[in-house]
Amino acid sequence: MIATTDTKLGGTKLPESQEIATKLSESQQPATKLPKLNMPLPGPNAKRVVELDTKYVSPSYTRDYPLVAKRGQGAMIEDVDGNVFLDFAAGIAVCATGHCHPEVVAAIQKQAAELIHLSGTDFYYEGMPLLAEKLSSISPGKESKLVYFGNSGAEAIEAAIKLVKYHTKRDKLIAFHGAFHGRTMGALSLTASRAIQRRGFGTLLSGVFHMPYPDTYRGTYGVRPECAAADCLSYLENELFRRRVDPEEVAGIFIEPIQGEGGYILAPAEFLQGLQKICRKYGIMLVADEVQSGMGRTGKWWAVDHAGVEPDIICTAKGIASGMPLSAVIARESVMDWKPGAHASTFGGNPVCIAASLATLHLLKTKYMANAKRVGEFILKRTADWTQKFKNVGEVRGRGLMIGIELVKDQKTKEKAQEMRNRIIQAAYHKGLLILGSGDTTVRFCPPLVIDEEQAEFAVKTLEECFREEEAK
Ligand code: PLP
Repeated sequence: MIATTDTKLGGTKLPESQEIATKLSESQQPATKLPKLNMPLPGPNAKRVVELDTKYVSPSYTRDYPLVAKRGQGAMIEDVDGNVFLDFAAGIAVCATGHCHPEVVAAIQKQAAELIHLSGTDFYYEGMPLLAEKLSSISPGKESKLVYFGNSGAEAIEAAIKLVKYHTKRDKLIAFHGAFHGRTMGALSLTASRAIQRRGFGTLLSGVFHMPYPDTYRGTYGVRPECAAADCLSYLENELFRRRVDPEEVAGIFIEPIQGEGGYILAPAEFLQGLQKICRKYGIMLVADEVQSGMGRTGKWWAVDHAGVEPDIICTAKGIASGMPLSAVIARESVMDWKPGAHASTFGGNPVCIAASLATLHLLKTKYMANAKRVGEFILKRTADWTQKFKNVGEVRGRGLMIGIELVKDQKTKEKAQEMRNRIIQAAYHKGLLILGSGDTTVRFCPPLVIDEEQAEFAVKTLEECFREEEAK
């Protein structure tokens, strides 16, 4: 890849891909900005694909409804029967720049025609250090960073687990109740989201301790919602460190600054700040899992930026390359001190994924991170009265375009309304809105960061319609 430096952005631009991008953007404009359904769902082609899938594909996947996608553009998905949906799921918060953004597609096409793979494990190519330099520059803290590239969120977590052990020469790890860090055996040992994710897989990593996450809506395990930050910090210092694990043996604390699969729960800034202090006091590595919350989704590069926290290590994936498989572990230079051979991956940091990521970062920086902030604020404002308007809405919370709507049977008791949540997700699909659940009883909005107010308004109105229909039952 021959890159030129665009000084204004402090980054890399791919001038030859601009031409392809312009052509693509002219030929692939979405036909509509809002959903258009032509038939009762699922249509005949969708049914055929689902049947085939059921016959040949692993049954371990959880599909909430039979969306069978054919193509995507911006925030719109067209299915195999010609129905068009508004996508507020973005491939689980992945397609940050929207589906098939012309500049990302052009970067992929150009790179694929030039060099698809040769393994950064063995050789060099320019994209890898260019992207690492950019990731270093957008990560908090004065110290320069080093970056390790993998293929998925779980791989980033695996690498971080190994790195914290290697660097500290300690082997205990701490994570949180409700956490989701991935499904490979190391990452799964930190995950404490659902028992089904662990069931049947035997013994996981030893030396992993879980503690309550500062949930300011529900509180858990004796944590008071109104004192969640202080209670959780106290649990760590006065319970965990006194009774179960010596802090001098802890290599790392892994935290999602906003729990993703756990229910879009935001850790208060004072908790993250307190956690950083405790980590520094005992020489424990603070690892921010920003696989879902990172890459501009919250309106800043990282969710930890909202709290002014500087983790020792950031793990990121999902939105980093607009849908191409790539993840990164970004660590302080003095922390990533492992030696050649200590860790590597054949495909990690593949040139095509890196090209997609460079284009993605440029778009996030110039347009879409600010858009996430703006449209996210619009949604939070539009939904601010939902707890008064709808008896089943317990709380609406979020930052940028990472927004969770927690549903309850009763606002006072906060009894979870999981079945209702599942029905609402189905109902939204039948109205042309693609959404996902999160946690036991939360609906999440994690759309591409390209959506505008009109599309946000459609999603808000659609959910309002779903709530009214539920109330009328
Ligand atoms: N960490 C977080 C916070 C996630 O949300 C996820 C996936 O949802 C992962 C890790 C695992 O990522 P992947 O599915 O790419 O392995």
